[in-house]
Amino acid sequence: MPQDALFERLWSGAVQMEEWTEAVSAGVITSVAENIITVHTTYFCGSVTAIRTTEGLVLIDTAKPDTASQTLAAIRSWDDSPIHTVIYTHGHIDHTSGIKVIDEEADARARPRPRIIAHRNVLRRMERYEASHGFNSIVQGQQFNKLDYVYPVGQRRPDEVYDDTLSLAIGGEQLELIHGRGETDDATFVWLPRRRVLASGDFVIWVFPNAGNPRKVQRYAAEWAVALRRMERLKPDILIPGHGPVIFGEGRVAQMLRDGAEALEHLVGETLALMNKGATLDEVLHAVKVPAAYLAKPYLLPKYDDPEFLVRGIYHFYAGWFDGNPASLKPAKNADLASELARLAGGAAKLAERAAALAEEGQTRLAVHIAEFASSAAPGDGRIQAIRGEVLRKAIDGESSLMGKAFLAVYERDAERRSRD
Ligand SMILES: [Zn+2]
Repeated sequence: MPQDALFERLWSGAVQMEEWTEAVSAGVITSVAENIITVHTTYFCGSVTAIRTTEGLVLIDTAKPDTASQTLAAIRSWDDSPIHTVIYTHGHIDHTSGIKVIDEEADARARPRPRIIAHRNVLRRMERYEASHGFNSIVQGQQFNKLDYVYPVGQRRPDEVYDDTLSLAIGGEQLELIHGRGETDDATFVWLPRRRVLASGDFVIWVFPNAGNPRKVQRYAAEWAVALRRMERLKPDILIPGHGPVIFGEGRVAQMLRDGAEALEHLVGETLALMNKGATLDEVLHAVKVPAAYLAKPYLLPKYDDPEFLVRGIYHFYAGWFDGNPASLKPAKNADLASELARLAGGAAKLAERAAALAEEGQTRLAVHIAEFASSAAPGDGRIQAIRGEVLRKAIDGESSLMGKAFLAVYERDAERRSRD
């Protein structure tokens, strides 16, 4: 299917992003404007934009180790001049770790390596990734179901950093770098004022904003909305998102930016309103929902993150980690609590049976609680592990988000393995 036709079908919700990923997997160039292209290889890697200037190419992002060579080859099929500057829109590896391939090409051709520009916090992020390398490897492996995953660290650091905004004039091209916080605290979006082209980085990703990841550092839902509003005021004609296809036309771009901002503003507003009345995390989590009309938009589907995870993130941003339940301030050891409940119920097997019944009735949230107590009370019981696995499989089936499914699946696999021990 031609790219334009596929875009229309994505925009109308007739096809899913998986189909687009399939279509671009060989490395596809989108002509954004004169002397500007964006290269796509898969939804799961940040796209790379190349801008041709009289001083050489400017790249926005770099892709990652398994897509960078393909991306660079696509760029080289379009322009062979040296890469003058690379902008990291943020420090996530699917935007920065392709720099190695870019540097290797420069070295092999005896050209200078490009200058790298990014927000100051990209440096801090890279330091943090070194400090928490083992943990990052574990959680990234869990999120994307990769065994023995090793988080790539050691990307080349930015040569120049900025704090709020930075204006660049490179070979006749004017670029405005603007900092905002959203998915990360180190984000940049790039505005080309004369062309009315906006490269949003991961502020726009063709799914519900990813501001609630259960295993990553604090994210910034409220400021994400502020950044989207700022982009909307620029009135771009063309929007290059961090992930997914380029959006052409002022009306569609404005709609996409506005809908994302409104959905986030709703979650933040509702969460804060309840918190300001003294609600606990439990009350907030079960009360605040995104209106269904937003979740039905093809670019706000909760397929990656889950709005409920965002609510938690918003709560913790303002409230710290305590959830308002006195039992969780200084909790008992989980295994002790589980044993006590099993004793009350007449044994861990009774808990497991009840968990299975609840799951059968579709009450998977409750079922997971009870199954985990059964498992903790009798960790060596293969039969209980089999029930736990079944309960978790039902819970996974009920989740729409990759993160919801992936983090439950970690324990489903654990139960499956232990049921055979
Ligand atoms: Zn990304």
